[in-house]
Amino acid sequence: MGLLVVGSVALDTVETPFDKIDDALGGSATYISLASSYFTAPIKLVGVVGDDFPKEHIKMLEYHNISLDGLQIVEGAKTFRWGGKYHYDLNVRDTLFTHLNAFEHFNPIIPDEWRKSKYLLLGNIMPALQLKVLDQCTDLHFTVCDTMNLWIENTREDLLKVLKRVNILIINDSEARLLTNEPNLIKAAKLIRELGPKYLIIKKGEHGALLFGEDTMFSAPAYPLENIYDPTGAGDVFAGGFMGYLHKTADLSFDNLKRAVVYGSTMASFCVEKFSTKGLENLSNIEIYGRYLEFKELSKFEEE
Ligand code: AMP
Repeated sequence: MGLLVVGSVALDTVETPFDKIDDALGGSATYISLASSYFTAPIKLVGVVGDDFPKEHIKMLEYHNISLDGLQIVEGAKTFRWGGKYHYDLNVRDTLFTHLNAFEHFNPIIPDEWRKSKYLLLGNIMPALQLKVLDQCTDLHFTVCDTMNLWIENTREDLLKVLKRVNILIINDSEARLLTNEPNLIKAAKLIRELGPKYLIIKKGEHGALLFGEDTMFSAPAYPLENIYDPTGAGDVFAGGFMGYLHKTADLSFDNLKRAVVYGSTMASFCVEKFSTKGLENLSNIEIYGRYLEFKELSKFEEE
């Protein structure tokens, strides 16, 4: 049946201390889909672009077995554009602009043949739109959702409705604190799980990720990379790798969720090594598995 992915498809202008790139391929659905395409197929992308969206990006996504039957192309509109600038400390980012363009009136319509999808990854879009997607899906078995500070602050009521209907929420540490008003992440995780999701993943940037379940917790490191060029999309790629692996293995045990977290971190480490989606366009399964094993080695230790 494949994996259903809904989110933004964008052209990003990104500046880091090393380089600047204009109108490069980006967006939450794009990053998620590319990362998950290394694990499972087909990836069914639902999103919107304008008629200026370059054909070469369409070709590249289709080459990765990403079905674009749910990608709306709005005649006469421009594609969503986002601009960000990273500081010398790459954990700090300023949003320079957000031009919604075609995204402004996005109404996510799930093609009929995709409505019975069992696995859904709701990328970072307005919670009201995430609810519309949930309403159209009839057979969901496992739903993962991402969000951001903008929605926590401005559309909290809708976000709380979404949380009641998803199995896992993936957010970063500052968003977890914002959502709960609780500085301690362990306490925040407990509060978030009470809002609905059975599991919660809190990403801590270069400090890895925490997975929370019923009375259980797992801490995964981030891969210590020497060359980080562009952190854009790392969170989406984490979610894509995580969900792609779960879809492939169809095993939702806590032990397998742990492996999925490590695969998510593995894919994120490839993403940040190059600008835009370049780090995800030409990977091999051997490279991915090799880095996954390095992760395992990184946190393994023996008793005396
Ligand atoms: P991340 O680095 O994980 O925060 O994801 C960055 C991606 O999110 C970029 O490719 C942007 O195009 C996209 N993005 C930024 N702002 C928004 C927004 N308000 N809604 C949807 N996608 C966004």
